[in-house]
Amino acid sequence: MSLFQPEFTARTARVRVRFGVGASRLVADDVRALGCSRALILSTPQQVAAAMRTAEDLGPLAAGIFSKAAMHTPVEITAEAMAHVAEVRADCLVAVGGGSTTGLGKAIALRTDLPQVVIPTTYAGSEATPILGQTENGLKTTVTDDRVQPEVIIYDPDLVAGLPVPMTVTSALNAIAHAVEALYARDRNPLSSMLAMEGIRAFARALPQVVADPRDVAARGETLYGAWLCGTVLGQVGMALHHKLCHALGGSFNLPHAETHAVILPHAVAYTEPAVTDLLAPVAEVMGGATAGAALHAFAARMSAPMALRDLGLKEADLDRATEIATRNPYWNPRPVDPVPLRALLARAWAGEPPVA
Ligand code: NAD
Repeated sequence: MSLFQPEFTARTARVRVRFGVGASRLVADDVRALGCSRALILSTPQQVAAAMRTAEDLGPLAAGIFSKAAMHTPVEITAEAMAHVAEVRADCLVAVGGGSTTGLGKAIALRTDLPQVVIPTTYAGSEATPILGQTENGLKTTVTDDRVQPEVIIYDPDLVAGLPVPMTVTSALNAIAHAVEALYARDRNPLSSMLAMEGIRAFARALPQVVADPRDVAARGETLYGAWLCGTVLGQVGMALHHKLCHALGGSFNLPHAETHAVILPHAVAYTEPAVTDLLAPVAEVMGGATAGAALHAFAARMSAPMALRDLGLKEADLDRATEIATRNPYWNPRPVDPVPLRALLARAWAGEPPVA
């Protein structure tokens, strides 16, 4: 099927991407290329060792380490990091970690416009977008701003080689979700559709190899390549039902980010598929199934992904409120979002049942 469209507007970010095994060890070159000499390194408390290694690689260009990055970018932590930025007189940021660490770098960049180098260690894709989600008083808000887009991304397969298999699988499904929704985005263009399909293909091919042998650096490299493509499309086009549902479930019920994406994706796709069967046919083909929803469900099961919202901590009694929150602000989806089938979708996802159109 041709991806040609008779009319479109495309937007691409000015980002330098360096990809390769060991590429992260040359981070000093990237900091110098930005004209900077005082890098503040960011990480979560769990990834201090990775931050320390980056500090060693940066040598005299490392001005300090701030290792309190946390999920959903709480503004209190950003305020603490801002004080650290001032204290060490940082002139750039080097974030080493997953979406949470990247989020902290973006939050600082929004407030300071400092240039960012991101070294991703998951497949979440935040490094490739101008989008920042942050939380204040338990409320998550999203900002899209060019200051937030990192200037440099270093993809080093060595850094995802240690990502535990369950996180590898859920993070990969999180990435695949960006690409699947990009295929039917209202503002898609031929380039975004090409990137999305190639990203899905990379994961379909390489994720089973990584699950079989998590230290297979060549297969890790291909999954990271997929993460770059999927993250890039997330930064280029709008998302629909799947992302909105995950946002609602994560924001209001504190469900874990990547795991929620993994459970919801086949259900949201099966719901939407009747309206965009032609656009999702390549997904069914690449994943090997009669429909994209069924194929994604079977793929997730083969990868031993979590299959039920109840296993992530959602209570059955929360389903009505989840439906209400997810339908409160009507948003665009190829198949309009109706509370009755949406409640049924959530009930199936809660119980771990197969998706239904
Ligand atoms: P995460 O960054 O929260 O990481 C989860 C945990 O795994 C952390 O403790 C982290 O230190 C650890 N970890 C990360 N990489 C590891 C590795 N290689 N080995 C061992 N441990 C590792 O998880 P995530 O799924 O990458 O990011 C989720 C966050 O990113 C959410 O807040 C989400 O909203 C945000 N996000 C934002 C965008 C965007 O464009 N703004 C896109 C995707 C995700």
